[in-house]
Amino acid sequence: MRRWSALFLSMAVAAGAVAAAPSAPTALVIHGGAGVITRDQLSPADETALRADLDRALDAGDAVLKRGGTALDAVTAAVQVLEDSPWFNAGKGAVFTADGTHELDAAIMEGHTRRAGAVAGVRTVRHPVLLARAVMAHSPHVFLAAEGAEAFADTRPELERVANRWFDTERRRQQLEAAKEREQRQAAGERVPLPPGAYFGTVGAVALDASGHIAVATSTGGMTNKRWGRIGDAPVIGAGTYANDQCGISATGWGEFYLRTVAAHDICARVALRGDPIEAAAEDVINRVIPALGGDGGAIGLDARGTIVMPFNTSGMYRGWVKPDGSRGTAVFREP
Ligand code: ASP
Repeated sequence: MRRWSALFLSMAVAAGAVAAAPSAPTALVIHGGAGVITRDQLSPADETALRADLDRALDAGDAVLKRGGTALDAVTAAVQVLEDSPWFNAGKGAVFTADGTHELDAAIMEGHTRRAGAVAGVRTVRHPVLLARAVMAHSPHVFLAAEGAEAFADTRPELERVANRWFDTERRRQQLEAAKEREQRQAAGERVPLPPGAYFGTVGAVALDASGHIAVATSTGGMTNKRWGRIGDAPVIGAGTYANDQCGISATGWGEFYLRTVAAHDICARVALRGDPIEAAAEDVINRVIPALGGDGGAIGLDARGTIVMPFNTSGMYRGWVKPDGSRGTAVFREP
């Protein structure tokens, strides 16, 4: 008799447990850079093409999440697609340095473990995000730069290597020429406005997986016409890339200002330590703290419930999302 009641009890508990099990939400948000992006300089055909690439990145990341994969794998998959797209300033299509080459920066971070990997000034690795992940997984370090990062890449045969010229695109070369011309005219005392879309751009992804874990990855070519080994915020943990177990942020914009405000960490610290809703935290940093110093840009992020934020203070930000309720979209300008 006792055995039967024990059996019924365990069946009831099991049934209750199944009924009560929350359906674990997953969420994904990506960006392809913020900046001066206006309708008059982006043709409908170009907009369609770059939004298709945003969609492909969402497909890649969301497929990982939907099959129960980790947030870390999801952001890696999404950022790889964006690095291969010539539309965005990361991997293929990265901006040119002042000496006509490409120096790429990337970072990846997992919130609940605070594991992180980052690289700067990379020249021959097709997917800098994979190198950042290898630094995290296979080295005792977090951040490797330039020749050292290349030497570490030599020890990882799984990483695809390319000639630096492989990252070239005609559009970016024209932007370098325009930037140099502007520099000369400015030096001669003229005030020349920034050419639209010419200087910045970055790609990034933040994901929440079914286990409730958050990860973030960011990858960039940095700033057109950069010199002296300039490194922006994207690969600096806390500045352009950060995750804890309650929040993940990937930033895009004028990196110097994100470095000075430790922007991604500032947003997540407000969420974790002060209990701010992520919407308020991200809004304040992106639309008040950074502009108050003279900087501009945007950020994407999410919290442990899958609340997605995508604030920016520029005219546009390439972005895409898959919310926990399954709704999904891409956008470029302020209005959808
Ligand atoms: N934040 C990047 C950098 O300063 C560029 C960008 O996101 O547009 O390198």
